Amino acid sequence: MNPCFPGARLCALATMFFYLAACAPEPPVRTGSPLPQPVTLATTLGASQVITVAARPPQATPTPTPPAELLPGGPACGASSVVYTVDAVLDWSARTVRVMQQVAFTNDTGQVLDPVVLAIPGVINLGDFTLTRVAVGDGPPLRDYILRDSQIIILLPAPLEPGSAAQVSLEFSLALQPIRQGYRHGHTGYLGYSARQINLGLWFPQIPAYREGNGWIVREQWPIGESFVLRSADYAVTLRVENGPDGLRVAGPGTFSRPDAQSWCFELCGGRDVSLSVSDQFHLLTTSTANGIPVEVFTVGDSAGGSLETARYALHTAANAIDLFETRFGPYPFPRMVVVEGDFPDGMEFSGLVFVSESWFRTWGGTANDWLTLITAHEVSHQWWYAAVGNDQSRDPYLDEALATYSELIFYEHYYPDLVDWWWAFRVNSYTPSGYVDVPVTTFEGPRPYINAVYLQGARMLHEMRLALGDAVFFAWLQRYASLMHGAIAEPGDFWRALEPGQYAATHAIRQRYLAEADVLKDPDSIP
Ligand SMILES: [Zn+2]
Repeated sequence: MNPCFPGARLCALATMFFYLAACAPEPPVRTGSPLPQPVTLATTLGASQVITVAARPPQATPTPTPPAELLPGGPACGASSVVYTVDAVLDWSARTVRVMQQVAFTNDTGQVLDPVVLAIPGVINLGDFTLTRVAVGDGPPLRDYILRDSQIIILLPAPLEPGSAAQVSLEFSLALQPIRQGYRHGHTGYLGYSARQINLGLWFPQIPAYREGNGWIVREQWPIGESFVLRSADYAVTLRVENGPDGLRVAGPGTFSRPDAQSWCFELCGGRDVSLSVSDQFHLLTTSTANGIPVEVFTVGDSAGGSLETARYALHTAANAIDLFETRFGPYPFPRMVVVEGDFPDGMEFSGLVFVSESWFRTWGGTANDWLTLITAHEVSHQWWYAAVGNDQSRDPYLDEALATYSELIFYEHYYPDLVDWWWAFRVNSYTPSGYVDVPVTTFEGPRPYINAVYLQGARMLHEMRLALGDAVFFAWLQRYASLMHGAIAEPGDFWRALEPGQYAATHAIRQRYLAEADVLKDPDSIP
C-alpha cells in the first residue's frame, strides 16, 4: 500500500509547509524571488569580485509566444500509459534498498505484446540487484521470467492486445555501491553513495520505449554519456528510511508529502524517472521563479557559510535559467525544480531534479564565468531537452546534449552578455572540437571526444542555424519542436521536421558540415 497514491497531490500540498517548517532539522532559508531585485553577493575574495546574480537585462531578441498546450505545473496525472507505484525502504546503515513496485502498463504500442520487458536503467552490475518476486495481476509469483542484461523479460499468461492493460508486481533489493573515483567511473554516481549522501538515480525497473519494427528498445550500457531511452510516465514513490541519523532530508522531484517522520512521498506525472538523493548533511535553500515554480537547492558542503553563499548563487542561477528558458522554449514541465550538489563529477539530468557536481560548488570563484554557472544552466535546460522532449540518448545524444550546451549560451547572452565571448572560448573553442554531431555514444572510447563532437560541435551547428534563420525563426523552431514532441521520444527527423520545408532546404549546407547523415528528411517520393 502506497500512502502517496491516490490523492497525493492535495496531501503533498498540505504537508509541504509542514515539511519545510517542522520536519527539517533546521528551517530552509527562503530567499524569495530573485527576479525583481538584483541580488549582490560579496565573495570572500574581495570587493573587486562582487557580482550581481539575478539582474535581468531587458530581453534583446523578440521571441514567439510560448505554446499553451502544457498546463502550468506540468502535465496532469493519468495521461501516461505507464504508472509506477514504488514503496521502498532504504536501510541507511546497510546501504541497501528493499522495494515493492507495481507497474500498470496500457499497451500503447499498437502491437500484440508477449513478453513484456522491464529494463533497469541505472544498475550497471546485476549482482547488486536481487529480484525476489515477479507477478502479473493477481496471479501467483512467476517462475519463468528471465533476468539478463539489465532486463526482466516477463512472459504473460496471454498476449497483451493493443489498448489492453497489464499490471506487473515486483519485489527486489538493491545493494548500493560506493561512488567510484574519477570521471570514467564516477560519473554514474547518481546511483551509489558517498560519505555524505545516498543517490537513487534510475534505480527501479521501467517499461522501455517500443518501436514498431524494432521492438523494445534497451540500449547497451556504455561507459560514456547516457544509454537511456526513457518513456514518459506517472509515478508515486514512497521512500522510508531505516537506521538513519537525525536530520535526514530527501531531495526528490514533483509534489511531495511526509506521511510520517521516516517517510517521503513523491508524485511526478509525465516524467521519465523519479530519482532521489538522501543526506543528513543537506542544506536546503528555496526560492521561486517569476511564474511561481518552487526551486530548491540541496547542498552538502561542510563549510556552512561558504556553501550557503555558493548554494544561493546556484539557486538563483537555476531560477533565472527556468525563467529564461520558459520564454525561449516553452513552459517548464514540472511543478517544482530541485538541484542537488552531487558527490560525483560534472552533473546529471533527471526529471524535475538535476545533480550538479560538488566540484563545481567547491571551486566556484564568485563569478559567473565559471563551471557552476554553465553546468547549472545546462542541467536545468535538460528539463526541456530530455525530460519534456525525450530522445534515444544512446543513438541520438545530440538531440539533448547539443541543445543543452547551446542553452548555456542562451543563458549567458541574456544574463551575462559580456561573457558570451568567454563562453565560446572557454567552453567550446579551447577544445578545438571536431567530429560529426549525429553519432551514437558507442562511437566514443573517452568522454572528451564525445563532448567535443556531440556537445561542442553541436552547439556550433545550432549557432550556425540561428545565424542562418534569424532569432525569431530559430526560437520558433525550438518552441515548435518542444511543443510537438512533449512527452514523446524524438528522433532526428522530428527535430528537423519542425522547421518549415523552405527553412530546412535552405540550411542543407550546415547539416552537410556537421552531420554524418545530412539528409535527415529523405523525400520518400524522390528517385534514389
Ligand atoms: Zn547534458
